Amino acid sequence: MYVCGITPYDATHLGHAATYLTFDLINRYQRLSGSSVHFVENITDVDEPLLERAERDHVDWKSLAQQETDLFCSDMVALRTFAPEYFVPVTQIMPLVDEMISQMKSNGYVYSLDGDLYFRTVPFLDALPISVDEAIDIFAQRGGDPQREGKEHPLDAVLWIANKNDEPGWESSHGFGRPGWHVECAVISLRYLLGPNFLKGDLGRASLIDLQGGGNDLIFPHHFMSAAQVKAATGQSFARAFVHTGMIGLDGEKMSKSKGNLVFVFKLLEAGVDPVAIRYALLQGHYSTDRMWSQPILDQAIADVSRVRSVLGRNEVAPTHHVIQAIADAIADDLDTPVAFEHLHTWVLATESGETGGSTGEMGRALDSLMGLAF
Ligand code: ZN
Repeated sequence: MYVCGITPYDATHLGHAATYLTFDLINRYQRLSGSSVHFVENITDVDEPLLERAERDHVDWKSLAQQETDLFCSDMVALRTFAPEYFVPVTQIMPLVDEMISQMKSNGYVYSLDGDLYFRTVPFLDALPISVDEAIDIFAQRGGDPQREGKEHPLDAVLWIANKNDEPGWESSHGFGRPGWHVECAVISLRYLLGPNFLKGDLGRASLIDLQGGGNDLIFPHHFMSAAQVKAATGQSFARAFVHTGMIGLDGEKMSKSKGNLVFVFKLLEAGVDPVAIRYALLQGHYSTDRMWSQPILDQAIADVSRVRSVLGRNEVAPTHHVIQAIADAIADDLDTPVAFEHLHTWVLATESGETGGSTGEMGRALDSLMGLAF
């Protein structure tokens, strides 16, 4: 499982948190089902937003990246997500990027434009999830440069950016510079899930990795480009499944840095909000839907958590066996957390009305292992 990680220029907001909680549910479920999960996540610790923020705030970009990565990790620990097996900063894998670009180049998918290297997207346009015109619009909004003069096609994506001004750069066989965004994830996922011979040989399976995940804003261009670049380098299909999570809005509006209405996990924690309640609130909606956050949603989650805790503190509780099975079935059904919470709620009501015969220990452990909710 490869999940696209953060660009560490700002703190983790609730949209990020909802995404990583989703993949944590998958991780937990797979482990409970007996699978061994290899989970890799990247840190995009060199990219325009990070460099721009560092310049704006007159801080060193490396220190900013380290500080925000540390904060992300402590937020994720507070929210009880399992850490990835490999959590890989892009700045640590430059020789692998070099190797991957060389491979694509020798396969005929790379051209140079004023020292920058571009990926030829045209052979992969059949796999576009949207029309070319729509893709060009979205590409411009999400880090692409469709208007740049001299490109063979507007949707060609930059693979290697030649060094400009005082930007950070690395020596490579393609000149001094830094990588484009999409190739980083392609390289990290393959290297850390497949091993050092990641560009060689047919693994004899339909796709190289099982799952590529991230927010639904990554469907295009990011995941499309990474998969196309993997195909260009290896001739093989990238991921067997793609899982995309919905966006979290605030009070009816999209949450975005341009609107300045981001809700940060560390701010809620600093204000004394119980992390279990944050997790509980974010899992109320189905992971794949765009959904809203609001103070009433958080207040309701805080009240619910306290109620579940008090029920779990009783000596006698309603029967638990079938409820635990129903919650497990709901999670198995495309992570249907809203249905899982309905079952939990029914059980809480049954216990409050005096039903007995269940085991609090069993219920507490099941909620923690299946949903990461430690009451
Ligand atoms: Zn990525």
